[in-house]
Amino acid sequence: MQQILERSDRAVPWDPDTVGLPEAPSDSALARINDVAFYANARNEVSTLASVCADLLHLHSPGEENEHRCRGCRLPWPCSTFGEIARLIS
Ligand SMILES: [Zn+2]
Repeated sequence: MQQILERSDRAVPWDPDTVGLPEAPSDSALARINDVAFYANARNEVSTLASVCADLLHLHSPGEENEHRCRGCRLPWPCSTFGEIARLIS
């Protein structure tokens, strides 16, 4: 997660003149507008999503020693939230 945040911070903000646009699979103007909006916002959205995941992983962490429960939700460790985030980022 930290690597995603670092890459997002180092990435050049997208602009048609800095990185350009990939080939469009269709000539639809609406699809092209959606592509441009996606690329223009992707850097910040990826960074925000990675921050949320990092916060969730911090919240859902092992409890005290020999407790075997999540510190955040108190389910047996590893809890389902931690397991799902770990699966998504692996
Ligand atoms: Zn948990």
